[in-house]
Amino acid sequence: MSSSIPVCAPPEVGRNLLGLDCDGIARSAPELARPAFRSAALYRWMYRRRETDFARMSDLPAALRARLAGRLRIAWPEIASTAVSADGTHKHLLALEDGERVEAVYIPQPSGRITLCLSSQVGCALGCRFCRTAQMGFSRDLTPGEMVGQALRLEERHRLRPPYNIVFMGMGEPLLNLDSVMAAFRILADPQGVGVAARRITVSTAGHVPGIRRLAEMHPRPRLAVSLNSSTDRARSDLMPINRRWPLAELTAACREFAAAGRERVTFEYVVLRGVNDSSADARRLVTLLSRLRCKVNLIPYNPIGGEEFRRPPAGELEKLRRGLVAHGVPASVRWSKGVDIGAACGQLWWASRQGAGHGSGPAPPAIGGTMPGD
Ligand code: SAH
Repeated sequence: MSSSIPVCAPPEVGRNLLGLDCDGIARSAPELARPAFRSAALYRWMYRRRETDFARMSDLPAALRARLAGRLRIAWPEIASTAVSADGTHKHLLALEDGERVEAVYIPQPSGRITLCLSSQVGCALGCRFCRTAQMGFSRDLTPGEMVGQALRLEERHRLRPPYNIVFMGMGEPLLNLDSVMAAFRILADPQGVGVAARRITVSTAGHVPGIRRLAEMHPRPRLAVSLNSSTDRARSDLMPINRRWPLAELTAACREFAAAGRERVTFEYVVLRGVNDSSADARRLVTLLSRLRCKVNLIPYNPIGGEEFRRPPAGELEKLRRGLVAHGVPASVRWSKGVDIGAACGQLWWASRQGAGHGSGPAPPAIGGTMPGD
């Protein structure tokens, strides 16, 4: 099922405050800088109360509210279209103020828990061969407000409030936009802000080692997921060009530092590609690579992205790979992605920004979804 609404926002006046912290608010609105509690009050309205209308901020003086409304705004990204999966997953295409768009996914888990998968960039520059987002190229980084705004817009649409989980596993490489991702993270994790606990927020990287090292030193910090996807440098460099810059030894060393600096286990994602990275030798090499590292491995059967170059292994082979890891002390589970039928699963997010086309209109890459070879 798919629905589209035209997005024709009125001409906007003033700076959008969404994404600013208290200092940023005070800088953008000097009338809130003194007394200092005024910028903190606006911060709480904007994030904890999810308020976008200055007029309703009842503990600010009326004259101040009117002045703010005259020259500033609080605006969330608009939903341009939505696709709904048979499994309850919703993929939303969100319109940004400059005409760019990103996808964000609402994923209800069988446990009842909700996960929001957010984007950190418009497109992606990393060129991983198995990922559809790579095919659209890179347009730009998202701002902190555009990331916080994805969460707030999806909360509103789904009548959701914390506790829920957030994963930065949508479009883009979060560690190439780390300052903005961390600014968004601080607002999302702040009990005075959006109030999603830090331990419920995960940042996923293709393996940007300096970013992992910087993240390791931050407090509070999100959980780390690393897209490993291969057990040898040769295979990994072939699939993920970033491995040529930061090969496996450096990547796993940085992950060890990250794990040592906190209590949470590092998650390794492993997109399983039939005949490419799914052998028992791969399992053995993974065990060696991940030895003495507090971690868990999520085996993700490859999701189709169009013009299939890869296939997923049959379920029996996936289970063999999983058992091979577990037998040697590496916790591993098979994660069947949700929302495959609507192109909302891992690696499937895409938007035809270059062609100026949206969901389901204009030129599109080969169709995805349905059954897969190997299913
Ligand atoms: N750039 C970040 C986050 C986006 S990708 C990263 O690489 O981690 C989110 C996850 O989807 C990654 O683990 C990636 O390896 C996985 N993925 C990409 N393409 C996939 C596909 N076709 N099938 C299954 N998982 C895929």
